[in-house]
Amino acid sequence: MILDLKQVFIGEKKSMPVDCTLDISQLEYQNNHPFIDPVRVKGEVSAESGIVRLKATVYFAYQCACDRCLDAVKRQMQIPIEHVLVTSLSGDDDGELKQVKHFKLVLDDLVSEDLIISVPSKNLCRDDCRGLCPNCGINLNTQSCACQSNKIDNRFKILEQLKQSDLQ
Ligand SMILES: [Zn+2]
Ligand SMILES: [Zn+2]
Repeated sequence: MILDLKQVFIGEKKSMPVDCTLDISQLEYQNNHPFIDPVRVKGEVSAESGIVRLKATVYFAYQCACDRCLDAVKRQMQIPIEHVLVTSLSGDDDGELKQVKHFKLVLDDLVSEDLIISVPSKNLCRDDCRGLCPNCGINLNTQSCACQSNKIDNRFKILEQLKQSDLQ
């Protein structure tokens, strides 16, 4: 989606509403395509005292694997975004300014960057996810395995052996 912001930049309009849906499902992040659903951007571009600013809320779904059990996790999220837009960057760009060449803003690129820095670094399918058994790899949320009880059995056996050697 490309927004033509010429009217705002040359002062013909004070503001322009932004309400669109982006397809960034091809975007790859951590060997994954986390934004498979359409992303909605709602807000406006406005000019105030010669400064053109984009302010919007981005509504999206973030899909990834649970940190513990690797099951798919899908989170509905929304983030506010705000950028000062300029037609040319002068010298030192501190990263706050977004250049809009020929008054045309490529919204997909801008939003993609914003989403990637806003996604949570910790993701669990549920707070008390029990994860995978480190021994046999079974998903402990849905199944149980004998690894843990075997471990306890082994400890008892060692205790038994110790007791017996004490007696001897
Ligand atoms: Zn999980
Ligand atoms: Zn196990």
